[in-house]
Amino acid sequence: MAIFEGVLYNSKADIIRHLANKGLLTIDSPGLKNMYALELGITPQTIHATLKAMNEGKKSLTKKPFTMADVGEIPVLVRQKIVDKVQWCFEQTKSLLSNPDMPKMEWNLRGAAAGKYKHGGSYGRLGCLCWHPKLVVRNEENYIEQTVPHEVAHYIVRQVWGDVQSHGTEWKQVMKMYGLTPERTHSYDVSGIKQDRSPFVYNCGCREIKVGHKRHNKIQRGRNYICILCKSRLSFVMVEERA
Ligand SMILES: [Zn+2]
Ligand SMILES: [Zn+2]
Repeated sequence: MAIFEGVLYNSKADIIRHLANKGLLTIDSPGLKNMYALELGITPQTIHATLKAMNEGKKSLTKKPFTMADVGEIPVLVRQKIVDKVQWCFEQTKSLLSNPDMPKMEWNLRGAAAGKYKHGGSYGRLGCLCWHPKLVVRNEENYIEQTVPHEVAHYIVRQVWGDVQSHGTEWKQVMKMYGLTPERTHSYDVSGIKQDRSPFVYNCGCREIKVGHKRHNKIQRGRNYICILCKSRLSFVMVEERA
């Protein structure tokens, strides 16, 4: 992927095609070709070849450039900053985990939690880091400085120590490696954001099912619920954290 003027493209060739389609770059202008070659870190010959292919109708803009719609409400540049921060976090804990795999990411978290690290079940061993569009946009700087490392720390703890207390000594240790005070919850303004009324996560074998306090208490008192899809009994997985 390549970023050009704040937009993420699938490739540098897509940037060239985009510029050509907008009339900002033509095949007969060596000056423009040189300028964009320098800017994109490729040769003018590569640009020429791409434009030639376009003119010959062999290739048009195959894939549209990424738009905000593709990544939820988190602007693509902010998304890039989050990914960079995750990588920065990985660097800080190299002594614990030398080469961590990048977990999946979701960009559409709702509810009062600022971020979330989901694992197990369909999320697998690596799990998934989930980011909250509204809270990212409202608190961008703090979100990247605090919330992103907070969730990455959960991921590191899971990979290094396995199933330990979520905000226990291991998590605190990782937070200190990031140079942060280990705080469990955020203090963002969540007005206008719906609270998650179903924080209890169950699993049936085919999917994750979330229930509220009432149903959770009934199950804990011995009531059985089964999944309508796979007909298996629900078993308790975890209470989702708020931060
Ligand atoms: Zn099921
Ligand atoms: Zn947490």
